[in-house]
Amino acid sequence: MPAFGPTRVSGPVRRLILVLGDQLDPAGLDALGADPERDAIAMVEVARESTHVPSHVQRTVLFLSAMRHYAADRASDGWRVEYVTLDDHDNTQSFETELARLARRLEPEAVTGLRPGERRVLDEIEAACREAGVAWRPEEDPHFTCTIDAFERWARGRKSLTMEYFYRERRKKLGILVDDDGQPEGGQWNFDKENREAFKAAPSAPDPPAYTPDDITREVIELVRDRLPGLPGKAEPFSWPVTRAQARRSLTHFIKHRLPDFGAYEDAMWTGEPTLFHSALSPAINLHLLNPRECVDAAVEAYRSGAAPLNSVEGFVRQLIGWREFIRGVYWTRYQSRGAKSNALDQHGDLPELYWTADTDMTCMRECVGSVVGTAYAHHIPRLMVMGNFAMLAGVHPQKVSDWYLGMFADGIDWVTLPNVRGMAMHADGGVVGTKPYAGSGKYISRMSNFCKRCRYDVNARSGDGACPFNVLYWDFLNRNRDAFARNTRMAMTLKNLDRIDDAELVRITTSARSLRQKLGVGAISR
Ligand code: SF4
Repeated sequence: MPAFGPTRVSGPVRRLILVLGDQLDPAGLDALGADPERDAIAMVEVARESTHVPSHVQRTVLFLSAMRHYAADRASDGWRVEYVTLDDHDNTQSFETELARLARRLEPEAVTGLRPGERRVLDEIEAACREAGVAWRPEEDPHFTCTIDAFERWARGRKSLTMEYFYRERRKKLGILVDDDGQPEGGQWNFDKENREAFKAAPSAPDPPAYTPDDITREVIELVRDRLPGLPGKAEPFSWPVTRAQARRSLTHFIKHRLPDFGAYEDAMWTGEPTLFHSALSPAINLHLLNPRECVDAAVEAYRSGAAPLNSVEGFVRQLIGWREFIRGVYWTRYQSRGAKSNALDQHGDLPELYWTADTDMTCMRECVGSVVGTAYAHHIPRLMVMGNFAMLAGVHPQKVSDWYLGMFADGIDWVTLPNVRGMAMHADGGVVGTKPYAGSGKYISRMSNFCKRCRYDVNARSGDGACPFNVLYWDFLNRNRDAFARNTRMAMTLKNLDRIDDAELVRITTSARSLRQKLGVGAISR
């Protein structure tokens, strides 16, 4: 007897409530004014969601298992649920055709749901409803504190969008860590300077809770192996939270055991320790198993009770209320996903094979890509300053990098991935998200980790066979883009350092970079 199977709705349906895999909070049904007597929930699993970009097998299992748990819980709450499984014999494996098929069969007055997180999905819903001749009535997603309209009002007329200003306004508006006069708790808005500690010795960060797959998850793992063979990454050990109850336990564990040291060490890295003091809650938050506001409230409560220091709590709040909401606003107001094809640095290389295998003699890349391949996770510094930085320095096309991030991380969703990767990591959006590229040499990695001590490359060399590839590619990248960066005042100091390198050394760097790109399989980086 399978633990979960497809379900069909019968009888009249007033509204068909579409619940997507990243909208798994039952409170969303309240926001839609849904009525279990008259409305029905529709949920659809389709192969294309795991194949339009290659999706890590754990990301795929996480979405499907969490969706099935949500559907089973709603059914036991008395909801009618139309659930199309991946192996349902009627399944056409396209979200658009499946939704149109359900709408035609059930003939609701309207299809309704929370505003989807991805432009492509919104387009498919609209097309499906048009095709079925039924109205589509979306509602704002209550998981975000700032609506898209409110973000647009904030952004309108600004020459550049700065997350810091957005964040301060949101803190004041929401009354988070501010006093009665709207001034920041502790006298400063951020503690970035305090939050750049590196470990002097092996850290002892408690691991996040690991959840043994239950019958539903085990069934999904087998289904994915059978129906979607060849997805990248390792399926097991799979230990992500797939229910709200598990996600709540993960939150409580983080607040108690890791939040106190999160702030100081949020940029640090260490071999064999991909999570360190980070929450690793982003997959649960992005699937809506947790509401970001409850995470913020729990962190602020820890500060009030003296259980966590302000620099840690503020750093965590900034990620949720500041960066997360800012990126979403940028996605919907400045990045149209069809139009987000900008490639400001005009880079056209291929993504090296090591991004799929972690097979490399660079310790930093082996550690960081290895944690992604093994668990679909890495914290923000490996993402930005190791893997993203390396792809930008090597000259990889931003779309190839963005697709890799979207598919390979358990928290990968287009609205969050696209501006973070194309804008922040690849500096490909012409400066919408970041006013200068986040380019770093091996020196940064050496300062923030123990990776270089265990690496065959010399982090102090910048050309020649044994030179750190980050150094070689960093100076080559600056040299290649010297003219483009000359107009950027924030790059002045960096270019001054480049000017100190004599011509003969620059030739050696260029030669080393060329042979490195060849070895990595990057191919031609310009057209
Ligand atoms: Fe990475 Fe260079 Fe350090 Fe090796 S020496 S770990 S390649 S930064």
